[in-house]
Amino acid sequence: MVCSATMLIIYTIITLLLSGQIKATDYTAIQKIAQSTSPTTITSSIVLGSRADGSELRSPIRIVHSGNPGPVLSIFGAIHGDEITGTEIIRRISSNPSFSITTGTVYLIPVVNLPGFYQNLRYLPDRRDLNRTFPGSSNGSQAARLAYALIQFLKISKTTVVVDLHSAATLRHNLPQIRATYSDGELTEKLAQSFGTSVILNSSSVIDGSLRAYCKKSGIAYLLYEGGEASRIDETSVHVGVMGVYSVLDALGMKPPDPDIKSIQKEIFYSRKSFWVRATDSGILNSAKTSGDLVSEGETLGQITDLLGVKIGDITSPQTGIIIGHVTNPILNAGDPIFHIAQPAK
Ligand SMILES: [Zn+2]
Repeated sequence: MVCSATMLIIYTIITLLLSGQIKATDYTAIQKIAQSTSPTTITSSIVLGSRADGSELRSPIRIVHSGNPGPVLSIFGAIHGDEITGTEIIRRISSNPSFSITTGTVYLIPVVNLPGFYQNLRYLPDRRDLNRTFPGSSNGSQAARLAYALIQFLKISKTTVVVDLHSAATLRHNLPQIRATYSDGELTEKLAQSFGTSVILNSSSVIDGSLRAYCKKSGIAYLLYEGGEASRIDETSVHVGVMGVYSVLDALGMKPPDPDIKSIQKEIFYSRKSFWVRATDSGILNSAKTSGDLVSEGETLGQITDLLGVKIGDITSPQTGIIIGHVTNPILNAGDPIFHIAQPAK
């Protein structure tokens, strides 16, 4: 039985959230909602910085709390501001009227890097990459402060699992894929396999300053989803991502298994290492392959010609593997990356 005083506190918090009055320093309110014993879904915003005019940078947040203790799953989109695949995945999940969970709490933040999102840029206006800045600091650069705010959110919300949704950089396309580090623990491996992508990159090396590195160090299970292209909504990548999030919820026991989700699972290509095939010459690319194609060592991937169509050379694969990303702009300078290939795990 919840006493009337507790109910009043919860009611007050919900009222504040609904009115948009929760501030970054009020993360404790989020914590209290997660302790509620009744199912609660809240739409609000959290402050992740400020603008030059003094106004707050407020990112929308949807909190879905089951009313029962359990895993705390935080799902982030657009840490790179122009990578809107994740934004769309979260938008579709949050607008699903039948979306509910039976244990734990889900936090959905469709856009983390609001300044980059507004300007259709991967970076922040200070040219820093947010995903090279974690854990950030409260008195550092704009990127450092945003990173710091997100880390405070992870701490206060007691997040146990992060799904970080990305796409390829601009003028590139990524095959839907999961990147994770199995050595982080059995849970990470289980969730990576449950997501439903056809490719999993299980690499133990992580980039300094990335959210992945922070989660690894902090014992938070972490999945990085890649799919599609910056500034584009690729329907396949969005669909795989949405189904992947639902599958992760199933795997975490946060909702009953859904037989419709199982049906998208397919054979998984496991890899521990990937590399880029680069343009040997400048010119125009005629691709013979695309993301998702299996390629053999020495196989022709495409051809480079000059502006009048005269062949300059072939692009071949130096290794056997699967193409997990490709350039979408055929205008090449020598050295430009063309195909991203994952090698089969041994
Ligand atoms: Zn990214």
